[in-house]
This record gives sequence, C-alpha cells and structure tokens, in this order.
Amino acid sequence: MARKDSILKLKELLILRRDAMRQALAGDLSLLKSLPEQTGGDIVDAALDAAQDEISSKLADFESRELAQIEGALEGIRKGTYGECDICHGKIPLARLNALPYAATCIECQRVAETGGAGAVSDWDNVVDNDVSYSDLETS
Ligand SMILES: [Zn+2]
Repeated sequence: MARKDSILKLKELLILRRDAMRQALAGDLSLLKSLPEQTGGDIVDAALDAAQDEISSKLADFESRELAQIEGALEGIRKGTYGECDICHGKIPLARLNALPYAATCIECQRVAETGGAGAVSDWDNVVDNDVSYSDLETS
C-alpha cells in the first residue's frame, strides 16, 4: 500500500479516536458534576470522593493530552507535514505510525528525548532527594 493511502487510513483512525476521546472527556465532566448530589456529609465518603475526583481529573488530564496529540496529527495531515519527525524532520516509518498514529517523532529521536533529555536528569534529582529525606525519617 502506498504511504499516502496508509496515511488516509490513519487519518480515519485518528478521527474515530478523537471523537471517542471527546466523548469520554464529556462523560467524565458530567460524572464529576453529578458527584455532590449523590453523597452525604460522611467524612469517609468525602475522602473517597476526593480520591475519585483526583483519579477522574488525572484521567481527564491524560485524555486531553492524548486528544491534543491527535489534533496535532490531524493538523499535520491537513498541512501535509504528517509523518515527519518533529525533531530531525525525517520520515517516520509507517510501522511506527500504524502502532502510534499520532507519533510526532521517529523512534531514534524519541529514544534520545527519553534517555538524554534535561527532564530525565531533573527527575533523577527528585528521586535522590526523596531517598535522602526518607532515610532521615527512619533514623530519627
Ligand atoms: Zn527524528
């Protein structure tokens, strides 16, 4: 199959996925709005609701990020830049696009971003900080 035809197929997939995500996000919001009416004043219930709220908002956060990536991919299809790596501007292999239709980078650039990026370094700093404070608590 020609690359162009594959991209047209992926476009359909992306649109389906986008619509499903929008629906899920709309569903999550209505679920959150309906919560106060269902619950009494019990402290345990309130705590459970808070945890549920947090889970829902984290889920919504993840879904809106994926939705943004899907919108970005659809924008790329409109502009004719879809399937190009954001970083090295090489062609992203179709196998990767089939696995992850909204991939914005090729595997090589993705790997470099994950292993050598500044974000990864600061994450490690946080892990070390947490370990130090944890052992301080244990010995005191
Ligand atoms: Zn690349």
